[in-house]
Amino acid sequence: MPSDLTIFYSFFQPEFPGPPVGRIRISSVATPGSKEDLSLLTVFSPDHSLRDAKTELSGGELVKPYECPARVEYVLEQIRLVGLGDVVPPNAYGLDPVLRVHDPQYIEFLRSCWSQWTAKGNKGEAIPSVLPSRGMRQRVPQNINGKIGYYAMAVETAITDGTWPAVQASSNVALTAQALISQGEPAAFALCRPPGHHATRDQFGGYCFVNNIAVCAQAFLDQGAERVAVLDVDFHHGNGTQSIFYERPDVMFLSLHGDPLHSFPYFLGFANEKGAGSGAGFNHNYPLAPGTAYDIWGDALQDACRKIEAFAPDVLAVSLGVDTFEGDPISFFRLTGDDFKRYGTLLASLKLPTLFVMEGGYAVKEIGVNTVNVLTGFSSK
Ligand SMILES: [Zn+2]
Repeated sequence: MPSDLTIFYSFFQPEFPGPPVGRIRISSVATPGSKEDLSLLTVFSPDHSLRDAKTELSGGELVKPYECPARVEYVLEQIRLVGLGDVVPPNAYGLDPVLRVHDPQYIEFLRSCWSQWTAKGNKGEAIPSVLPSRGMRQRVPQNINGKIGYYAMAVETAITDGTWPAVQASSNVALTAQALISQGEPAAFALCRPPGHHATRDQFGGYCFVNNIAVCAQAFLDQGAERVAVLDVDFHHGNGTQSIFYERPDVMFLSLHGDPLHSFPYFLGFANEKGAGSGAGFNHNYPLAPGTAYDIWGDALQDACRKIEAFAPDVLAVSLGVDTFEGDPISFFRLTGDDFKRYGTLLASLKLPTLFVMEGGYAVKEIGVNTVNVLTGFSSK
């Protein structure tokens, strides 16, 4: 923890939302700590480690989860190694901003799932075994074994004892970084864990529970922004974020990801999903083939950036997953370490207030270098 934390808190008071985000307002707040650094603040909570599931359903086996506590510790270590900027703790925002994009009954389910699960005598971690699939009624069962299926979009992700407090900490991390930008920081990094972009308004899965970036996008709008662009560069399609904003023109969602014909989440993320109703034309998917390297991936990102520029958002929010890395164990793109730095620099050329929110990345040993490469590429513009 930086020793100048007291100074930091003297000007940062999250109880006050600060002035609305304005179109041209990229005023710079003095970065706490005057050491030679790249001046990009990171928000981090050690409470992420409360999310420490022992099991993930993968290939018919219960395996050690790919989404594990060590991931963000490697990122934190690299942030400190390169002197990216200060690392600050989150503040508590309560559930109100979360409930702006999530169903209250779903959030209550997340909060109480573990106690209901164990009260039923279940011995293992909480995973669904039946979902309301085609032809079945979409109603919430009373029995937790049914209820967990109702609220699941996938079944690999186990809910455990510490899941809910870690999820709360993760959304507080995101909202604290969002507040920093709302108050004038040009950029901030929310080192969230668990991730969020697969979580829909009322479903968990794909290691995600609360959709942190959707919560932040809505918070920007609630504080006066007119338009927010959410760019999802995680290997996987951000189905949750897309579904939350699909019929809205105030949030443009753009996602580069593994073609869902070949990759999780399989049932959303196709190129012809353009938005609906008043949101028509504000959703852009770039499904890409197995083996995609930076030549193709970078072209897709350039195209996405042109769409963002035309949209002229007040702020850019980036779902930062680095499972596009060539060594990722559950993905099939071929980005190299240097490619992450290249696209960080490209994102900086948009000259927008930019919130980075951590999503996936499962090559655990390299996740720190790859993530921080994006942020240093962005900062050393
Ligand atoms: Zn991912």
